[in-house]
Amino acid sequence: MAEPRTLILILGDQLSLSLSSLKDADPARDRVLMCEVAEEATYVRHHKRKIAFIFSAMRHFAEELRQKGFDVRYTRLDDEGNAGSFGGEVERAIAALRPQRLRVTEAGEWRVMEMIRSWEALFGLPVEVLPDDRFLCSHAQFQSWAEGRASLRMEYFYREMRRRTGLLMRGDEPEGRRWNFDADNRQKAERDLFRPSHAQFAPDAITLKVLELVERRFSNHIGSLEGFGFAVTRADAQTVADGFIRDFLPEFGIKQDAMLSADPFLNHSLVSFYINIGFLDPLDLCRAAERAYHEGLAPLNSVEGFIRQIIGWREFVRGVYWMTMPDYAQSNFFDAARPLPDFYWTGDTQMNCLSITIKDTIRHAYAHHIQRLMVTGNFAMLAGIDPRQVHEWYLEVYADAYEWVELPNVLGMSQFADGGLLASKPYAASGAYIDRMSDYCGDCRYDVTAKTGPDACPFNRLYWDFIGRNIDRLGRVPRLQPVVRNWSRMSADRQALLRRDAQDFLDTL
Ligand SMILES: Cc1cc2nc3c(=O)[nH]c(=O)nc-3n(C[C@H](O)[C@H](O)[C@H](O)COP(=O)(O)OP(=O)(O)OC[C@H]3O[C@@H](n4cnc5c(N)ncnc54)[C@H](O)[C@@H]3O)c2cc1C
Ligand code: SF4
Repeated sequence: MAEPRTLILILGDQLSLSLSSLKDADPARDRVLMCEVAEEATYVRHHKRKIAFIFSAMRHFAEELRQKGFDVRYTRLDDEGNAGSFGGEVERAIAALRPQRLRVTEAGEWRVMEMIRSWEALFGLPVEVLPDDRFLCSHAQFQSWAEGRASLRMEYFYREMRRRTGLLMRGDEPEGRRWNFDADNRQKAERDLFRPSHAQFAPDAITLKVLELVERRFSNHIGSLEGFGFAVTRADAQTVADGFIRDFLPEFGIKQDAMLSADPFLNHSLVSFYINIGFLDPLDLCRAAERAYHEGLAPLNSVEGFIRQIIGWREFVRGVYWMTMPDYAQSNFFDAARPLPDFYWTGDTQMNCLSITIKDTIRHAYAHHIQRLMVTGNFAMLAGIDPRQVHEWYLEVYADAYEWVELPNVLGMSQFADGGLLASKPYAASGAYIDRMSDYCGDCRYDVTAKTGPDACPFNRLYWDFIGRNIDRLGRVPRLQPVVRNWSRMSADRQALLRRDAQDFLDTL
């Protein structure tokens, strides 16, 4: 092949044929570059399943591009000469191919965008950075929505997105005359032996090679590869999406907040891996869910709830991330500084809810939203864990974790470390919430009804200490005023007892 006109760099989470950098590509004249680099796999020690999923998905996507006629320069992790970083691999490709320009769709992470911005000067050729139009709200649109607002509330952003996409709209009115049907959701789940199972895929030859590579190179990372069943092609990811709409969407709403020891997935969609990597298109998924509603296959509370997560929360956290980085990563509203307890890496704790959630996480590189928010996240916030360490843990252990989505969810939603920019109040809860939404407490060594003492549920012991410890800061959060008042009405002796009891527990961590 002659010297290519354009070298198109495709990153590991850009596996979409509709990617902006591929739109005007000419397979006869342009060249695609994809690379597995050690720097990205190890800047935090990602879960083995996450690395295997991304590398295998990349290799399958490269094959798909080749079938479409593209000439793909693909560097495998252990190829001789692999420079180990994006910059190093781009430099090698430029030296070898001498393209006229480099083209790339903007990276999802601020860190990688900073790298890309330096390349034009560094490599002496034009670098075109195109917007990532797989997202429904551009940076400029989010900025203009956010401008002039004293606080950013997802619910209002979401309504705007409903109007803009037309999803579940009847003219100017929301379908069912309400924007949000959460009041109909939030039910507890029961064991159900007949619940359909989520799709799993046996590894093919490409995946088997990747699994062997990951085991060899990342043996000290968390997790195991046993039973690896991720979809690693766009077609299989579509099978997951179709299975969700058919089997799980109808009860998605009512089961959304439930937690069950024997079923880590319940009615969740398990599509975050595939949307985030680019295999599934968020708008297509929402339209499929909307169609199921109009065809009478799924009720409005479920469909609205699902669509809200995607065009609401997903787009909203991305907007907040890009509007506030890099300062956002340093947020620490409560000045929390305690190190992350060791049991976050093993699940070895007598707190049954944490043990189950962490062991699910280690096994599947997945836990659902309420486990992430109200168990591991809630505990870290109540115990005053350093939010930076909490953030790194989430980034490492979940196969769907990319900083643009993980960081605001962790720092903003689960730790309230941004002081309320993203969430209107801290998601702090005692054991009663976990007991209401799960079957965890019945098998726990602790007593969820006891408030203090060595046998009391640690969430109960920590809850009032968290309020008391942060009373000045929480006094500024309007939605927490009733709780702040309850604390203030307690006698000094009672307050001191609760604080001392929490400290006794914290000393054991
Ligand atoms: C502390 C914490 C950390 C999180 N880290 C991540 C992360 O690293 N990557 C990630 O994709 N999601 C993250 N989330 C959001 C959410 O928990 C996951 O998207 C969800 O659990 C993925 O599983 P699912 O596909 O079965 O989701 P479902 O429950 O079936 O939801 C459907 C889809 O909605 C979207 N969604 C739902 N909630 C959110 C949200 N809060 N933010 C963004 N998208 C959302 C996802 O694309 C998800 O696939 C985090 C949430 C919390 C509280
Ligand atoms: S009693 Fe407390 S620690 Fe035990 S499972 Fe319930 S909420 Fe978790």
